[in-house]
Amino acid sequence: MSDCLFCKIIDGSIPSKKVYEDDDLFAFEDVNPQAPTHILVVPKSHKPTLLELEESDKETIGKVYLVANKLAREKGIDDGFRVVVNCGEKAGQSVFHIHFHLLGGRSFMWPPG
Ligand code: 5GP
Ligand code: ZN
Repeated sequence: MSDCLFCKIIDGSIPSKKVYEDDDLFAFEDVNPQAPTHILVVPKSHKPTLLELEESDKETIGKVYLVANKLAREKGIDDGFRVVVNCGEKAGQSVFHIHFHLLGGRSFMWPPG
């Protein structure tokens, strides 16, 4: 999608600190990290929110968690980390291209704010 920030990061027209890429997923460091490790794992196919996911996205979404697993180990946060999706403005979503936050390197509170 031409006016989408994350589509532009995926196609390289906006620079990012890439940490992983395959045919379906792109992962990069968040520009405004909320934890010592804060990575965004992003399906390449443009979907605004979790609500637009379909049956055909099952495999890609499963891969998101395998990539989070791999990156958590690589970054040394496998002693405790979070994978978070904000869906909709009320939940704090600000970029409307579905993405999964991988956060680690500090302790987290529950319930979340
Ligand atoms: P959301 O609030 O939609 O769940 O998460 C969007 C995330 O994208 C935020 O954590 C924000 O810091 C990050 N972000 C916004 N613009 C950019 C950018 O241009 N580059 C990078 N690397 N991250 C961004
Ligand atoms: Zn997009």
